Amino acid sequence: MRAVTVTPGVANSLRLIDDQPEPAAEEGAILVEALAVGICGTDHEIISGEYGEAPPGADRLVIGHESLGRVLEDPTGTLQPGDLVAGIVRYPDPEPCPNCAVGEWDMCRNGLYTEHGIKALHGFARDRWRIQPRFAVGLDPALTKVGVLLEPTSVVAKAWDHIERIGHRAEWQPQTVLVTGAGPIGLLAALLATQRGLAVHVLDRATEGPKPELVAALGATYHTVPVNDLPFEPDVVVECTGAPTVVIDVMCKAAPTGIVCLAGVSSGGRSIDFDAGALNRALVLENNVVFGSVNANRRHWDLAAQSLTRADQGWLTSLITRRVPVAGYAEAYTAGPDDIKVVLDFAS
Ligand SMILES: [Zn+2]
Repeated sequence: MRAVTVTPGVANSLRLIDDQPEPAAEEGAILVEALAVGICGTDHEIISGEYGEAPPGADRLVIGHESLGRVLEDPTGTLQPGDLVAGIVRYPDPEPCPNCAVGEWDMCRNGLYTEHGIKALHGFARDRWRIQPRFAVGLDPALTKVGVLLEPTSVVAKAWDHIERIGHRAEWQPQTVLVTGAGPIGLLAALLATQRGLAVHVLDRATEGPKPELVAALGATYHTVPVNDLPFEPDVVVECTGAPTVVIDVMCKAAPTGIVCLAGVSSGGRSIDFDAGALNRALVLENNVVFGSVNANRRHWDLAAQSLTRADQGWLTSLITRRVPVAGYAEAYTAGPDDIKVVLDFAS
């Protein structure tokens, strides 16, 4: 069968192969026919050879961690043939650490977890894949076109879950949210903020392309000014750019008792000059919280599925700016200027 693969650690080794073996029974009881695979920055980093790890004994890694498929068979009866399903990306470490031991593999302490399409497990960019029932998330049939957005939505569902847990350390009545970065993660973070009834502001550099319209369609306000020029202090910030100056600026901009969730991964290696003492003083005197958030556990995937079901389906569809048939995989994995989310289409 077809699979999109890389040789981990080797730049530009991306290949579509047609002799990938059928998924092994030990990968899971549920056999799934792939419908779509979403592409994100992690895939581009794997393709450029920065990281990625093939399963033990394999030379090549099937990539793809944002999945949507249709169940072909499930002898456990957890799902029915024909059900829409997405596969959870991360499997808990085998040791396990205290967090993995209770199903919070998103909070893994020892880094021994594995991840589909990234770290020691084949991904979902193949015609058929298998998944264990506890890592299979069933989706409403109405999500056939947009269910591939479940993985990035799970990431922001976790971010919001943790924001709310932190908020409830004391009396908490947030009103304004600032999301920095209007890529897929930022836009989905903004969606979940609107679903909470908050006043949502999204900041990005782009003045053209689909981003301003997508933000407006959420009923949110779009900004292209520097963070320091925004005319309000946000109660919550979800930082999705990873850009060092933006990261520092939002920490300084947050309102008293504000919560700053850092969800963008920086590449590092770039120094900026800032007054660490003044930042510390502001954080202490205003009871602010800054925290990092990555990945998601089963509970967040289920919350994400609920959020997608409640969202405007037309808006979700417009996040997917390109759908590319598998045969055109090279084009799919080449970033375009107006891309929000690019999807590799296995159904066509
Ligand atoms: Zn762990």
